[in-house]
Amino acid sequence: METQTENRTYQKYFTKQHDLLRKAVRDFVKKEMTPYVDEWEEAGEYPRELHKKVADLGFNGIAYPTEYGGSDGDWFEHIVVTEEFGRCGSFGLCASLFSHSISLPPIVKHGTHEQKEKFLRPVVEGGRIAALGVTEPSGGSDVAGLKTTAVRDGDHYIVNGSKTFITSGIYADQLTCAVRTGGEGHGGISLLIIETDTPGYSTSEKLKKMGWWASDTGEIYFDSCRVPVANRIGEENKGFYYQMENFQSERLFMAIQTNMISQLCLEESIKYAKEREAFGKPIAGFQVTRHKIAEMATLLEASREFTYRLAAQVDAGEYKVTEVSMAKNFACQVADKITFDATQIFGGYGFIRGNLVERLYRDNRIMSIGGGTTEIMNEIISKNIL
Ligand SMILES: Cc1cc2nc3c(=O)[nH]c(=O)nc-3n(C[C@H](O)[C@H](O)[C@H](O)COP(=O)(O)OP(=O)(O)OC[C@H]3O[C@@H](n4cnc5c(N)ncnc54)[C@H](O)[C@@H]3O)c2cc1C
Repeated sequence: METQTENRTYQKYFTKQHDLLRKAVRDFVKKEMTPYVDEWEEAGEYPRELHKKVADLGFNGIAYPTEYGGSDGDWFEHIVVTEEFGRCGSFGLCASLFSHSISLPPIVKHGTHEQKEKFLRPVVEGGRIAALGVTEPSGGSDVAGLKTTAVRDGDHYIVNGSKTFITSGIYADQLTCAVRTGGEGHGGISLLIIETDTPGYSTSEKLKKMGWWASDTGEIYFDSCRVPVANRIGEENKGFYYQMENFQSERLFMAIQTNMISQLCLEESIKYAKEREAFGKPIAGFQVTRHKIAEMATLLEASREFTYRLAAQVDAGEYKVTEVSMAKNFACQVADKITFDATQIFGGYGFIRGNLVERLYRDNRIMSIGGGTTEIMNEIISKNIL
């Protein structure tokens, strides 16, 4: 089956340069990741050296300034990398391997030169792992209500509280963390970079999850952690706004990843429907199967074109909050149907571990919860259009 780059419809978005990148990432994933993914998923972890291998080939630094080790890539380079890493078939592995993509953007946009040298370059170079800490045990949707406090004490903040469901929460070296430095509500929040070897910083065991098994998701506790004021990103009490900007790229990425889940399910379903026989003929011979696959392809085409069009607008510097929320929700609705139907086409095998669609079905479930739930996306959309 044609891939995005080979498909001429998408050549308005992708150049020869993107094709070369796609081939390099695909070769890497095929050689260094796909053969080991089942083992890493069952073990609930992957080797830390993978970060370095990915960084050495420049795949970590696509979005980051050349000045700090990156390559200043455009959104479609990002998309190529996201899609091709998705081909490893474990979206939890991708989430942890690229947790810096939700942690570093506020540092890039609002950080100082010293912060970029200390906290951006080493992550881009694969020597450190970066995570984002916003969600707390008392709630993730209501970001403005977060409770972790950071009280000023000279040239430090004293941080107390906890975070939960943090991707790369166990193995991260640094956390871009939303804390309360001011009064109640969104105007009292700042972002701090907290080093995970700070005294008073601890984590839970890895949380056991429905999907994303290879990803280390954890709870984090702060017991009077002293964090230098120099680690504050941008201005005090502006953290909520910085995080809202940050959510935009996270949500667009999630739409791209979710479309990739759908793409893999579609590819697997086409292959299986041609091979598997029932009542003496391939199940692709039953109109009900063919129509399921036709609907999958149609929905995915619509979702992908919408996401690419939006990415082109964002790449051109437009701020598209409503459309980003729509793209995330639509990609999730489409993938919910496609993962369900793909599992159905596989019959009993679709329910058995070791089968890619079984994992995709589970890995997909978080997409409409993480990075802002479907309901929160609909709140944003309705607020902006009513
Ligand atoms: C595997 C995994 C990885 C994650 N990684 C990270 C990470 O790296 N960093 C991080 O900070 N967080 C992370 N999260 C947290 C994730 O972003 C939150 O789970 C999500 O934002 C929802 O928050 P919550 O779970 O507290 O649900 P709640 O906010 O308690 O919501 C519960 C339900 O109520 C609904 N609801 C809430 N408010 C409204 C409203 N106003 N209108 C309508 N419905 C509403 C929600 O849509 C949801 O259905 C991760 C979560 C998981 C499971």
